[in-house]
Amino acid sequence: MLLEIVQAGVPVLRSAARPLTADEIRGQEIQQLIEHMRETMHAAPGVGLAAPQIGLPLQLAVIEDRIEPTAGQADDARERRPVPFHVIVNPVLTIEDATPAVFFEGCLSVHGHAALVPRAIAVRVDALDHRAEPVTIHARGWYARILQHEIDHLAGTLYLDRMYTRSFATAANLGAYWAERSVAEIMAALGIEAPARAPTS
Ligand code: ZN
Repeated sequence: MLLEIVQAGVPVLRSAARPLTADEIRGQEIQQLIEHMRETMHAAPGVGLAAPQIGLPLQLAVIEDRIEPTAGQADDARERRPVPFHVIVNPVLTIEDATPAVFFEGCLSVHGHAALVPRAIAVRVDALDHRAEPVTIHARGWYARILQHEIDHLAGTLYLDRMYTRSFATAANLGAYWAERSVAEIMAALGIEAPARAPTS
């Protein structure tokens, strides 16, 4: 079943989500929700979907990056690799390497737009999985970006709060004007100064 993805302006996207109990996670309701969120993420398509994005203030997100491992240069720069489907519940994010990686990022709840967003290059996430078992994830590159983006959702934060505002663009204009240029060139053209560190909170 495909769920409706709510768009910026809906209050739940700006609210702190609540944690789930182990019993709730294992219950039929959440198990079914996970399956529906998985289908909705695939259909969008997206590489992550947090519960607030389908209108539920719960600390739960689904993640899967099905990119082909043989992708081109841009994906090498992003350190983007396939990530199998998994669920994070009640996640706690720790920055392991605050070196900033700056790339265009979008959000299914800010449909049709993207902006340059600095993110920490490496993170650790302590969370519960879909069976309420504790898991520790160490992630780098694009996967680390996905985790930071989704965990932000659970605190009511959108990439809009972290982006270089001057880089905000429609997806169409990103393709028309900026897609062929390096991030360094784009930042220079837009008058954006490179950060020393990614935001840590
Ligand atoms: Zn998002």
